[in-house]
Amino acid sequence: MPTDIPHDLQPRTGMDVDAFREDIKQHLQYTLAKDQYVSTEWDHYHSVVMTVMDRLHDRWIDTQQRYYQQKAKRVYYLSMEYLIGRLLDNMLINLGLQDVAAEAIEGLGLDYDVLRETEVDAGLGNGGLGRLAACFLDSMATLGVPAIGYGIRYDYGIFDQDIVDGWQVEKPDLWLEYGYPWSIVRPRKKYKIQFYGETTASKDARGRLHFDWVNTHKVNALAYDTPIPGFQNGVVNTLRLWKATSDEGFDLKSFNQGDYIDAVRNNLLEENISRVLYPNDKVFKGQELRLKQEYFLVSASLQDAMQRFKKQFDDLRKIPAQMAVQCNDTHPNLAIPELMRVLMDEEELEWEPAWDIVTRTMNYTNHTLMPEALEQWPVSLMSNLLPRHTQIIREIDRRFLNTIRVSGRTREQRERMRIVSNEMNARVRMGNLGIVGAKKVNGVSQLHSDLMKKTIFKDFAQEFPGKFTNVTNGITPRRWLRQCNRGLAGLISDRIGEEWMTHLDQLKRVQDFTEDDSFRESVQQIKLANKKRLADYVKRQHGVGINPHSIFDIQIKRIHEYKRQLMAVMHAVTLYNRLKENPGADIEPRTLLFAGKAAPGYTMAKLHIKLINSVAEIINNDPDVSDTLRVLFLPDYSVSLAEKMIPAADLSEQISTAGMEASGTGNMKFALNGALTIGTLDGANIEIREQVGPDNIFIFGFTVDEIDAIRQNGYEPKAIYEEDQELKQVIDQIHSGYFSPEAPNLFHPITNALLNEGDYFMVLGDYRSYVDKQAEVERVYKQQPEWTRKAIINIANMGHFSSDRSIRDYCERIWDVEVREG
Ligand SMILES: *Cc1c(COP(=O)(O)O)cnc(C)c1O
Repeated sequence: MPTDIPHDLQPRTGMDVDAFREDIKQHLQYTLAKDQYVSTEWDHYHSVVMTVMDRLHDRWIDTQQRYYQQKAKRVYYLSMEYLIGRLLDNMLINLGLQDVAAEAIEGLGLDYDVLRETEVDAGLGNGGLGRLAACFLDSMATLGVPAIGYGIRYDYGIFDQDIVDGWQVEKPDLWLEYGYPWSIVRPRKKYKIQFYGETTASKDARGRLHFDWVNTHKVNALAYDTPIPGFQNGVVNTLRLWKATSDEGFDLKSFNQGDYIDAVRNNLLEENISRVLYPNDKVFKGQELRLKQEYFLVSASLQDAMQRFKKQFDDLRKIPAQMAVQCNDTHPNLAIPELMRVLMDEEELEWEPAWDIVTRTMNYTNHTLMPEALEQWPVSLMSNLLPRHTQIIREIDRRFLNTIRVSGRTREQRERMRIVSNEMNARVRMGNLGIVGAKKVNGVSQLHSDLMKKTIFKDFAQEFPGKFTNVTNGITPRRWLRQCNRGLAGLISDRIGEEWMTHLDQLKRVQDFTEDDSFRESVQQIKLANKKRLADYVKRQHGVGINPHSIFDIQIKRIHEYKRQLMAVMHAVTLYNRLKENPGADIEPRTLLFAGKAAPGYTMAKLHIKLINSVAEIINNDPDVSDTLRVLFLPDYSVSLAEKMIPAADLSEQISTAGMEASGTGNMKFALNGALTIGTLDGANIEIREQVGPDNIFIFGFTVDEIDAIRQNGYEPKAIYEEDQELKQVIDQIHSGYFSPEAPNLFHPITNALLNEGDYFMVLGDYRSYVDKQAEVERVYKQQPEWTRKAIINIANMGHFSSDRSIRDYCERIWDVEVREG
């Protein structure tokens, strides 16, 4: 909106050290009202952030103006989670200002590393899905894709994890306690979000049946924007997070009755919608508040997108050419009925043209095949909260049933394919809704996309063969190499230049140096320095010493039975038993490091954390073994902790039950930082093996097909236990309280699940091949030149796993958007 304020500003964008330093001082005094006597680390950090923001604003405005002038097709990325972590380094690197800022900061007598650590992680996600969204934002900006990320500005992100007496204890994540200087509130970007109420039908003037959604409760969605700069290309995109507010004033009835406090308190209830991130990873819990959150995100984001569209276009049929909406998992799939509702009830389109627009605009990414993760909302719950949407979903379902009746699907198939299940307590299947309503449906690795078509969505793959595609996940090389591992990034740039940062395929050229002694030695030295830095951090934070010359064997990810942290602890116990049996055993010193959060309600996962800590307690305090073997669980896994641990890893544990890890992205981060992988043929591990070659990765365990066959023939974990003496000893120890003398029965739920409840995740089935593969790891590690050669080959072949490649694939296969080459 034009204003009378003259636009003749001197840009505050000096990119030199002096200008940067002076602006920090300016902000300290004139924005924060602090002097050198009373300013705190937070003030210094805050001043630096505002100095960086100043330098983003011109580019941000210019980018948005350019998109507008070019009438660019927009990509709308809808995600309930963004695990972005700290931003200071990332912003400075992408602006090309890291050295300038460091020098300016040192010039003020401050410590850059201290300031960096002052920032709180924005932990608005659980794990891989949220981190993927964050990597994609970085890549979309770097490729100049006109994208907006939409999400929710939770007051509380993923909980902080304490470990007390070996157990996980959750604490609220107070990330906004002192404000969040990377975001700007947009008071004019506020939309009404409706809930509850009922639908009414009436004939309009033209005799057309018209539906209204009336008597609704209303909540506001208020926009908070964070700039997302591309890598040194002048582009700045937006992450727009919605906060729930209420301005209906007060609850008038209570107010008039003089109940002032109640009137105000009810207000606050509306704001609960954006209060807290649900901490479950890959499990569906049908809570109403969660459905409210999902609709809140969808409704606010589509209103915003439609407003932007209508400012420049009046023909709604242009929507598919002007917008691509990507739903990160089923969570935002209400966007399908919501866009139908907007087009029909507000824009007065008929069903067919509206449906044509929707099905050429929406896209859905599937993230898991595990049945307990699939969202299926009870119709009773949904129709109460979203009566009009439920009506529309039923109509989508009815029409879809008619088409598949014609196309010859059997009755059984039709029942499986229905969006609204035909049962007593009917449910809305959000995956089926996504497939029927989307232009494209993608899985996140080749294996996962193939299995999707062969298993849960088999009928749909036959019905809509062209709809399904794959986009293998990726990671941004800016954060996951340049930022977290300056040593290795610098060495690579010295040898092949800096182009790898935006064209990760260029890393191929370091393969020429596998036989170069000085390069190999440098890679080794950098790894050792990273391990020492992690060891110092662990010592400082937790008072525990670890040997930087031991193998750093790391498993960091959410704690989940399918990820099989249990199997890695069982390997630790196996090594322990061998050392106790034979104190002179030639076992390479090894440090097993774990980190990860368990969902607060996931009792078994929490017991696994307790087991890791109990095993660590015994092993680390046993003088017979503690020089050779250490086990440590580092609390409060986060993006920032990952950035410290991954560059220090020798061995990356990617040991999920085959078929259960859709892709994994942790696996990619480790390999890019020169760790070797021990893993199953699951998710993107398969593509990593293809890229690095089978000699440069340690693959073990059952394949998906073998697991299928074993389940068919009857899997017998108890027989495996009886026949493998080492395995039996490990299980017996866990069972008998060897690691929990104070509570000998403590771990019975674990041993029961393995021996008496079918060992669904096939830990026992894969144990022997895992332990034997670990022995091979050790043999190769002893040959350091050989190990380093393999590590370099891993680094050299990670080009495929850049999230830039993923985004190019989305642009080509799904969004139909041109990439602006930088
Ligand atoms: C990359 C990442 C993940 C995903 O790890 P996986 O091993 O793929 O499960 C989870 N959490 C954080 C903090 C990450 O950085």
